[in-house]
Amino acid sequence: MAAVPLVDSHCHLHMLDAGPDHPETYLDRARERGIGHFLTVSVDIDSAPDLLALTDAYPQITTSVGVHPCGRELREVAPEELAAMADHPRVLAIGETGLDAQCADADDRDWQIQRFRRQVRAAHLAGKPLIIHSRGAPADTARILEEERADLVGGIIHCFTDDMAAAERYLDLGFHISLSGILTFRQAAALREVAAGLPRSCLLVETDCPYLAPVPHRGKQNQPAWVREVAECLAQVRGESLEQVAAYTTENFYRLFPQAPAPDPDAVL
Ligand SMILES: [Zn+2]
Ligand SMILES: [Zn+2]
Repeated sequence: MAAVPLVDSHCHLHMLDAGPDHPETYLDRARERGIGHFLTVSVDIDSAPDLLALTDAYPQITTSVGVHPCGRELREVAPEELAAMADHPRVLAIGETGLDAQCADADDRDWQIQRFRRQVRAAHLAGKPLIIHSRGAPADTARILEEERADLVGGIIHCFTDDMAAAERYLDLGFHISLSGILTFRQAAALREVAAGLPRSCLLVETDCPYLAPVPHRGKQNQPAWVREVAECLAQVRGESLEQVAAYTTENFYRLFPQAPAPDPDAVL
């Protein structure tokens, strides 16, 4: 049986520099390396038309609507308006939203929390899962998700970097844990240990490109083809094959997002 292709469950295709490497070039490279689907994630509402245009142009791309926790200047959206924007077959989720203790806006945690709560409410109205960005704030992120009953919609903790106790709290909420290129970084031994101990049924892989290029590409602009390096690292730390990691991470993605179009049939791992 042919191997199942990988899914890049969190990327920002519209942020890749255009130049000679326009989206098609990136998508071709990713296809050659067995990546069959790309969830390209919103960070601000004003780029929603660009993201929807990508989903129109390429059947293997889906998107989300949401406002990133960093960027106080980004336009706020009421839960009702955000839920209405999510009412589109290629918009799979609300986000990315959450808390970030390290960006310039972090001195006002209450403001970040209000933006976060509005988007959890939008997810309830839309009946769609959440994409969560949490950096340096696992306790508050989990607490808000619990208080806002995010367990009823579920979702993804993207670019997970916290400890096993944090992961278990997210798993209790029914959330998935998505691992990025950070998993491959030399200093990320503790994260690799957590990744080795998590149940298969919660795991996803992502690039978060153009950020966080994995080893051996550090310092370059990340691209969706390199989700394969993340999956290879995950396979190594868990004592599994790349094909096994692809099979269960892709199955997890389609269980969470059953309406997502099937992977590109030409993507062969
Ligand atoms: Zn993020
Ligand atoms: Zn992101």
